[in-house]
Amino acid sequence: MRPIAEVVSDNRVRITVPGRGERYDLDVKRVEYSDPLNYKLYGTVGGSLLSVILTSRNGTKGGILQGPERSYEICDLGSDGQLLLPHETDDWKNDFCASGIGSAPPVRPAPAQTEDARQPEANAKVQPCTSGIRVLFLYPNNVSPVSATNHAYNIIDVFNQTVSNSGVAGTALVELAGVVQTTYQPLGGIITSEALNLSNNANAQALRTQHKADLVLLYSWQGYGDFGGVPSPEIYLHPVNARAFAVVSLNGSNIPVIGAHELSHLFGCNHNDDNFGLPYAKGFVFSIFNTLVAKGNAPGSKILYYSNPNKSFNGSVMGDATHNNAKVMNDKAAIVKAFRSEPNVLNGWVNGPYSGYEYQIYTYEAISRCGSPPYTYQWQESTDGINYSGNGTGEFHNVGLYHNGNHQFYLKLKITSSDAQVVETWMQIWVDDDPNEGYRRGQQESDSLSMQSDDFTVVPNPASHSVQLIFNAPTVRELELNVADMAGRTRLPGKRFQCNAGRNVLTLNLSDEGLEPGMYVVTVHHDRQVIRKKILYTPEKSHEDIPLCIAARFVQPCGM
Ligand SMILES: [Zn+2]
Repeated sequence: MRPIAEVVSDNRVRITVPGRGERYDLDVKRVEYSDPLNYKLYGTVGGSLLSVILTSRNGTKGGILQGPERSYEICDLGSDGQLLLPHETDDWKNDFCASGIGSAPPVRPAPAQTEDARQPEANAKVQPCTSGIRVLFLYPNNVSPVSATNHAYNIIDVFNQTVSNSGVAGTALVELAGVVQTTYQPLGGIITSEALNLSNNANAQALRTQHKADLVLLYSWQGYGDFGGVPSPEIYLHPVNARAFAVVSLNGSNIPVIGAHELSHLFGCNHNDDNFGLPYAKGFVFSIFNTLVAKGNAPGSKILYYSNPNKSFNGSVMGDATHNNAKVMNDKAAIVKAFRSEPNVLNGWVNGPYSGYEYQIYTYEAISRCGSPPYTYQWQESTDGINYSGNGTGEFHNVGLYHNGNHQFYLKLKITSSDAQVVETWMQIWVDDDPNEGYRRGQQESDSLSMQSDDFTVVPNPASHSVQLIFNAPTVRELELNVADMAGRTRLPGKRFQCNAGRNVLTLNLSDEGLEPGMYVVTVHHDRQVIRKKILYTPEKSHEDIPLCIAARFVQPCGM
């Protein structure tokens, strides 16, 4: 599979429609990057209103283009790139999204539930243990797991983007509980009846319990009068725990939007013309546009917003007092979330800037959620996203960014919680080597640097034998020094030394350490304060040596 650097060039992605000569240049606004096979892009098509979500899960790419002009589902054609399924023709449907191209990405099963009520955690880096609303996707035996998984991520993307676009509280965001096969056999006919049957099915109920899901969505190839449905909203007045089951027909051509629409029904959102349920729970139709839960689905007319009198789209307010599904989502998210008990699945993130300047220091923070504290951390760094090294173990990790020509730097964080759950998370960081060359601007963490880099000098550089590190320390302190090579491998790990307040000179003997000639990065740490400098080691050139200022290296005061 192609790495992201090849997928995205110059902040753009090009998607072509084979046989039609259509070409779409996507302006990428945001990248959520895990590794070369797992990432998510958000953007627009050119300067248009078409919004784009493209997700790669284990290399299988899918997504949606959505806007007033037309809509497409983005499907993976393996090594041939991506294909778009236009809304107005179903001709190619069987050729891609629903036909199971590639190998099934594994879906991580939810670990067994732990019994404990989590202790209050004084640590700010631990988020309260509240998972998002969990959605389980079920597929019968005539639907491929690849297509089921692809649709699941796309439905979640569209749903969550609609929540975010609409200013709805984050408590309404959904996450994947699983994509699993069910023994339930869809019957076809009236799709609301199918959803009701599903809610009464023992296998569907058991899978929902096993995967700790709040909501369940079934894919079906059967024919229905509608492309999606939930147990009749008029009768059951969602949200209702026992009826939180939706069905989406794979005969529909905009499955991510249909899926997100049906999940919204399960919160209590109704159509623009429904007259039951909450008095404000109506979708909204204006100009040529339909909000997500409005009924209209003409090509390109659907927008990823809930009806909302406080939001405008294209110059028009998107709702009024009786058309405010955003309020439904805000009001009812807690009820949906409480359908199942908290599953306590460990999760974690890296928090810190997504871009920065080479050799400047940035602080990254581990954020943990659920599992059982205390947590242990393992940080690793990479310049190619493949070969990682390093052994940071703190909740904070200081990094001097560098790159090997492709401007990318990768951080990997592994979190282990006391109940033996493990989660790994990644961050890709864009590294600029010149702030004035028009690259994306980096954001320097103001609290990560106490000593200005200018106050820290290395002489001689290049060095043939040893170098002197000259700097001012504000107080007496213990510092730690590391030397890494340009591949990020630590070569002289964790040497500690004491320095005085004021000017300090530390001598580092490179030739005694068995280093081969080349470029190295020397890093001096104290708590969250880090200085990093490049050293060029050229042992053949000359023999002038700098006398050591300390005999037992790094353990005695070296002030001058
Ligand atoms: Zn509907």
